[in-house]
Amino acid sequence: MVSFIDIHCHLDFPQIYPKIDSITENAKKAGVNIILTSGINKKTNRLSLKLAEEHSIIKPALGFYPPDALHREESSKEEFNFNEKEFKEELQFIRKNKDRIYAIGEIGLDYKDGRNKELQKKVFISFLRLAKQLDKPAIIHSRKAEQDAIDILEQEDMKKVIMHCFSGKKHLIKRASDLGCYFSIPTNVVRAENIQGIIKIVPLNRLFAETDSPFLSPFKEKQNEPSFVTESYKKIAEIKGLTLEEVKNNLFMNWQRLFD
Ligand SMILES: [Zn+2]
Repeated sequence: MVSFIDIHCHLDFPQIYPKIDSITENAKKAGVNIILTSGINKKTNRLSLKLAEEHSIIKPALGFYPPDALHREESSKEEFNFNEKEFKEELQFIRKNKDRIYAIGEIGLDYKDGRNKELQKKVFISFLRLAKQLDKPAIIHSRKAEQDAIDILEQEDMKKVIMHCFSGKKHLIKRASDLGCYFSIPTNVVRAENIQGIIKIVPLNRLFAETDSPFLSPFKEKQNEPSFVTESYKKIAEIKGLTLEEVKNNLFMNWQRLFD
């Protein structure tokens, strides 16, 4: 059945996790029957698998976000050590769970808060190669590292890629789009002109929509959740001059093409 899809969010975050039953109910009511939740480290990868076991509309993606950049997002503010043992264990864990997962992500490069660019690149490449080996899409975030990320995607000849919350310049959007990358449009598109620009540049058969819950809410006074992904669909419809139904159908075809 054709459904709205939230292609990227973090349902394991403490702002959402305790409310997961009402949040999945809200999603179903809004017609959102596919939600990809992305792990970013050891702890959240395991929580993502658990959530998917408990709720059929939740599909897990497992990843490894550059730990040297993560202290910004983690409420605990603990410093993360970035050691090879940790990421190699996670590579193994993902490989072991390959039949349960839909994608590899969230992975990427983050130079905004990250300190060790060379190690970040090495880890990024390891996870891209894993995605390719397992024939799964890679969900990628690049922050202040768009050029490097696209260079690596090209070098590695990656075919199944979703750029999440991309904030690179126009020529980089064009370049990634020409390489065959998909772009997911986050719900803050309702006010973010640079994201609206992605919709203008990237063809409909290369678009997805996401909430990145609990972040990037379309409503300033409300915390984001997957049911709000329809706000991204509405904006895509408006900018592309299509009906909501047409966008829903097309993004669902993208899902079938990339994930089947
Ligand atoms: Zn994210």
